[in-house]
Amino acid sequence: MILKEDCIFCKIANKKIPADIIDETDNFVVIKDINPVAPMHLLIISKIHYDSVLDTGGEDGINCGKELFGILGTLAEKFNVADKGFRTVINTKEDGGQTVNHLHIHFMAGRWFGWPPG
Ligand code: 5GP
Ligand code: ZN
Repeated sequence: MILKEDCIFCKIANKKIPADIIDETDNFVVIKDINPVAPMHLLIISKIHYDSVLDTGGEDGINCGKELFGILGTLAEKFNVADKGFRTVINTKEDGGQTVNHLHIHFMAGRWFGWPPG
């Protein structure tokens, strides 16, 4: 499955609905999270639909580690957080707190954002 009907991130990543695209590579787009938990809270969204990171292996998987890690460096430079650092999170399924079932990586920077608790 490349795109999934009625998937909001499929529509955003493939420009079926307008969004403020911060960065783009062959396999990903980067947008701002609509409900940020850090001053800079971005989402790196795959253009191909995967329900979760668990579906990215195997025959229909995505082979783009270099591209993905490269995006992290690009964003860190672009937003001047390479020195201070940032956090990346991939929530996976129910217990992982995943609310949108389309592969995405959170990129958060700027201050402590309350996770993990304590
Ligand atoms: P998850 O909980 O699945 O790891 O993260 C989903 C994230 O997507 C949430 O942080 C939520 O705020 C964000 N989000 C959900 N719908 C939209 C949307 O339509 N546009 C944008 N920019 N972010 C969204
Ligand atoms: Zn999707």
